[in-house]
Amino acid sequence: MTYIIQGKNNQYELVVGCEIHAQVASKSKLFSRADTSFGAKQNSQVSLVDAAMPGMLPTINEECVRQAVKTGLGINAKINLKSIFDRKNYFYPDSPQGYQISQFSDPIVGEGIVEIVLKDGSKKQIRIERIHLEQDAGKSIHDQDPTQTFIDLNRCGVALMEIVSQPDMRTLEEVCEYVKEIRAILRALETSDGDMEKGNLRCDANVSVRIIGETKLGTRCEIKNLNSFRNISRAVEFEAQRQVDLLEDGKKIDQETRLFDTISGETKTMRSKEDAMDYRYFPDPDLPPLVLTQEYVDNIKKSLPELPSARRERYISEFGISEYDAGVLTADIEISQFFEELTKNHEPKLCLTWLTVELFGRMNKIGISFGDLKIDAKKLSGLLDLIKNGEISGKIAKDVLDFMIETGKDASKIVEEKGLKQVSDTSAIEKIIDEILAQNADKVAEYKGGKDKLFGFFVGQTMAKTKGQANPQVVNEILKKKLS
Ligand code: MN
Repeated sequence: MTYIIQGKNNQYELVVGCEIHAQVASKSKLFSRADTSFGAKQNSQVSLVDAAMPGMLPTINEECVRQAVKTGLGINAKINLKSIFDRKNYFYPDSPQGYQISQFSDPIVGEGIVEIVLKDGSKKQIRIERIHLEQDAGKSIHDQDPTQTFIDLNRCGVALMEIVSQPDMRTLEEVCEYVKEIRAILRALETSDGDMEKGNLRCDANVSVRIIGETKLGTRCEIKNLNSFRNISRAVEFEAQRQVDLLEDGKKIDQETRLFDTISGETKTMRSKEDAMDYRYFPDPDLPPLVLTQEYVDNIKKSLPELPSARRERYISEFGISEYDAGVLTADIEISQFFEELTKNHEPKLCLTWLTVELFGRMNKIGISFGDLKIDAKKLSGLLDLIKNGEISGKIAKDVLDFMIETGKDASKIVEEKGLKQVSDTSAIEKIIDEILAQNADKVAEYKGGKDKLFGFFVGQTMAKTKGQANPQVVNEILKKKLS
């Protein structure tokens, strides 16, 4: 599908490339032993290295290297056996070194490929230019005091992977699907938590436009730190239109870094874009080149888990579900694990409905995420058992699910407590039906006179009288017998 931006005179095409900063899942920082856990007291996780005390020397954390290599292999990329750490020099109040240790000309991971699946079922390959390892900065806190800014260095020195794509995306959907796929890969590999709300996955979008048919790339603007799929989409859409409007007015686009204002929905100038030379990159004299052996890389490759794309293919062939549904189920490793646990005891398509329609539908409505959920796959499986065994109807099961989400209790416990067990006892149902037929003698006569539609009325009355607990199949059978 093409995405066309209409100008006054011309039609334009959107061109987007992404730089994703993903926090490496690791207990300690990239070059120090300080803790990385989220939510700790301010400045409680700062080593002398992170605080840039004079004379302190960085030491590479091997776990972070392993995680970067694993991620590179997960996107089918070339792993560079020799990479270099450079100093990227700039002043930030929350970066005491006065530079960031990053990788410039020789990153740890080279070119790779990520495949995305679009809503219409089509696939597209997005080329990855590189992944490099670098330090995160601390945090400046402006909103605690009217006159002062506070600095929290807990995040300072935490390892990031910067994943840089080629400008291969042409629609808003492609941009979002790309970021989702990267997130799914990182989560499946367990190399990053990919939690956008906690800021450990942040996306910078490089946006440019060009008249349809042109091959030269237009001047791009970089929109920094987008932290939700909705904001990525809003920001890119606004920015593309802003650029088209400028061009149509005969103006030039300045290459610059912009920020997205989530309230106004506009992008605004943050700073004019520096060239690489402004950062005075040079190899960090405190760190030797990082040299890996092919054997080390091969061993990591052997330990790679199943990736989302392979899992999608497997779901389609093994469970016979659609490409789209397979995409929903593999968007996050937790969802995949939940689904596979359910399929141990139940039909895949039934599991799909109860997970994606019933459970996700309720979660969206209440506004909770998977992490907040009080029930696990075993508990939902227990609910489906009750339907399978004829203990409750599908309709009652939906009410039971509401209580389960609210309380986290087992389905059987709720059914017992609330007395929701399905009545299959023929004589009990027969008694109720006899009463209903006696009370509605006129309708019985009408039915026998040919008004077939009234059958539904009798079923409804019976279900109402049993508060939905009568086994519908039994009700149907008895009613047919009595009314014939
Ligand atoms: Mn970076």
